[in-house]
Amino acid sequence: MKSHYRVVVIGGGVVGASVLYHLAKFGWSDVCLIERKVLTAGSSWHAAGGFHALNADPNIAALQAYTIDLLSEIERESGQSVGMHMTGGLTLAGTPERWEWLQSAYRVFQTIGIEDCRLVTPEEAVALNPVMSGDGILGGLWADREGYIDTTGTVQAYAGAAKKHGATVVENNRVLELNQTADGWQVVTEKGTVTCEHVVNAAGLWAKQVGRMAGVELPVSPLNHHYLITDSIPEVAALDHELPMTVDLEGFTYMRQDQKGMLVGIYEIDHDHWMQDGAPWEYGFELQQEDLGRIENELMLGFQRYPCLNDVGIKTWVNGAFTFSPDGNPLVGPVPGKRGYWAACAVMAGFLQGGGVGKSLAEWMIHGEPEADVYGMDVARYGKYAENRRYIRETTGQFYSRRFVMTYPNEQLPAGRPLKMAPAHDAMTAAGCKWGVSWDLEVPLYFAPDGFEETPTLKRSNAFDIVAEECRVLREGVGLLDITGFSRFEVSGPRAEAWLNRIMASRLPAPGRAKLAPMLSETGKLKGDLTVLNWGDGTYWIMGSYYLRTWHMPWFDDHMEDGVTVRDLGEEICGFAVVGPKSQAVVEKLTEQDISRLGFMGCGAFDIGLVSAKVARMSVTGEKGYEINCRYGDHIALRRMLLEAGTSEGIRECGFNAMLSTRLEKSFGIWSAEFTQGYTPGMTGMDRWIDWNKDFIGKEAALAERDGNGPAQVQVTLEIDAVDADASGYEPIWSGGERVGFVTSGGYGHTLGKSLAMALVNRDKAEVGTELSVHVVGVERAAKVIAPSPHDPQGKAMRS
Ligand SMILES: Cc1cc2nc3c(=O)[nH]c(=O)nc-3n(C[C@H](O)[C@H](O)[C@H](O)COP(=O)(O)OP(=O)(O)OC[C@H]3O[C@@H](n4cnc5c(N)ncnc54)[C@H](O)[C@@H]3O)c2cc1C
Repeated sequence: MKSHYRVVVIGGGVVGASVLYHLAKFGWSDVCLIERKVLTAGSSWHAAGGFHALNADPNIAALQAYTIDLLSEIERESGQSVGMHMTGGLTLAGTPERWEWLQSAYRVFQTIGIEDCRLVTPEEAVALNPVMSGDGILGGLWADREGYIDTTGTVQAYAGAAKKHGATVVENNRVLELNQTADGWQVVTEKGTVTCEHVVNAAGLWAKQVGRMAGVELPVSPLNHHYLITDSIPEVAALDHELPMTVDLEGFTYMRQDQKGMLVGIYEIDHDHWMQDGAPWEYGFELQQEDLGRIENELMLGFQRYPCLNDVGIKTWVNGAFTFSPDGNPLVGPVPGKRGYWAACAVMAGFLQGGGVGKSLAEWMIHGEPEADVYGMDVARYGKYAENRRYIRETTGQFYSRRFVMTYPNEQLPAGRPLKMAPAHDAMTAAGCKWGVSWDLEVPLYFAPDGFEETPTLKRSNAFDIVAEECRVLREGVGLLDITGFSRFEVSGPRAEAWLNRIMASRLPAPGRAKLAPMLSETGKLKGDLTVLNWGDGTYWIMGSYYLRTWHMPWFDDHMEDGVTVRDLGEEICGFAVVGPKSQAVVEKLTEQDISRLGFMGCGAFDIGLVSAKVARMSVTGEKGYEINCRYGDHIALRRMLLEAGTSEGIRECGFNAMLSTRLEKSFGIWSAEFTQGYTPGMTGMDRWIDWNKDFIGKEAALAERDGNGPAQVQVTLEIDAVDADASGYEPIWSGGERVGFVTSGGYGHTLGKSLAMALVNRDKAEVGTELSVHVVGVERAAKVIAPSPHDPQGKAMRS
């Protein structure tokens, strides 16, 4: 071990070994992996080694596909066998809803380019897996590229290939302490101290402690998980092919062949956290005692699905721990506030996702950002709230228990909630508000009559008419929307304007004005779809998506300059929007100032009743609207005054579902759908806000896009001949049997009475009037490209 490396990777499980491999392969060979015992000594040695294609997040599914392809490459590079069994895999559906979901998932796979899968009938499923009972199966999804590997061999292959690229592996050396220095980190180990520029926490079951060494509380917890391995089974031994990996979602089990027997793993409802503060340091190649009482119900289902299990002995029980984040996705990337400290942990399926995690992290460290949009596993997607022990326990437990339970897009899950509530929350609840969650905050979805319960569904829900009525209120009357769920950053200081000019690609608004502002990364990809407000007193606000607060703040910090202060106002400022043609009539009753002079996209300080507010005349609904921002303490009074003032105008409270429907009718994009860090201004139409006459971050790349051949795909609005369900996102779009794009978001436009979607399509299919088709919940529907902003295309309402 040298005394200095460019990077020290802590942890020799599959994830650390993959990070090491990718760093060295991409050119950073001065890297060292330090392992407490020997490679695989965490959860990696006892994994079942399975890999499969399905993941609810398409970006993560794509990284899984990358990992599967990589396995043979590391085998070749290292000369170490990974013990590949590419058996193919079956995912089974046991309820009509699950079967619908599986058909949708199949289409999403087509969108992300996973072509080697197909839907199968129950009979075909049984033919593919003859030891399985087909009882209750309604269909399945077959994927060619699923199977299992030898876990120890795989970790050794990653490490071996990394060493061939010049990396170092040091075993039997625990990292004891981490100290931040002026230019990196001092890593104190049992075998001495090394310095480095970057340190990577790939400590798996010990990630919590290795986080705390740097003063970081990572939202991660281990949970126990069982699988069993049987003795030889005559029916299996008699087969002339290997059984496919089989996931029985309604049966809570996964299964693969193990020699001439079977390995059956169980995702039980009755989950079991283990060592929430991290595994003991001395924990090694050990396991927990199996706990059959906890898995009894699921095991029974497994025995029904595979009747041959009833006649065979169980050779081995494995009850081992592995780690989960609150949403089950990994925690990867630079840890905010800790320069040079990187996370690569909470990787629930390391053999499936480890390759993608290693690749993304290495690109991030070397090039400043990963190639793919990996927001779904970015460690910065969580804020301070997620450090809480109970929050971690509830959310990770919920994720584990629901691993094989179907979650509907309109379903609200209870873990870690309610946490943060806007001050008027209780009054709004009394008024019938149904809540969703964004980050830590409860956000209003819609207001329903007493006793109403929304039915979870993949299709249009029984809240359809309620949302329709709220849309009508917003378009024809006046609605009140709680806008606590927006982010707000205050930018001040003598260099505020200069800094904003560099950070934002758009022209800055004049005093008393607001402006849409794309923010780009150095490589010209989107980093934000923000609104900048110039209050005219030297201070500016940046407004955006609430859940990106700790994702945007590190970006501002990383590009900070002297003479500028950026403050997150997310714990201080909240507000209400008054929206609709009658909004001005309501607001002017409450102010002695001349609100009629506040034109579209104007902003300023107003007294609204007793509340000293900051008001902006804009609305994502496309209607005339006033966003009234107030201090947290004033939220209840502001609501009460606005409702009182609006009584004669028939004001009604509305929620985000109506806001989302109305914005779709205006073709207004939103982050995580039309805009992501994977897309460019040219693809998304964001380029129309760019000020090409100034310098800004990402200009060179944006210019190259503008002056080059143009993006391959561009944003369009679609009208879909949908019947009882609307598109939601990532559905493939077809033209004459050829895949030509995908939906970025969709829904029902209640004002227009049409099913709408926004989509990225090949440029030659973007012309208005182009006839296409889209798969909506697995069913192919005719669709047509329509002109953007099908409602009020000239924007007369919002400018009125
Ligand atoms: C029963 C079971 C079945 C599973 N089946 C599958 C499956 O089929 N497919 C799949 O993809 N995944 C499966 N998994 C999950 C998989 O095991 C994990 O996702 C994976 O092992 C995580 O790897 P890791 O590198 O993040 O962590 P770990 O394997 O825990 O590695 C972390 C390493 O860091 C080292 N370390 C920690 N602290 C220090 C320190 N201070 N100094 C030096 N070294 C340190 C540890 O010794 C350890 O070797 C299963 C897990 C279990 C429990």
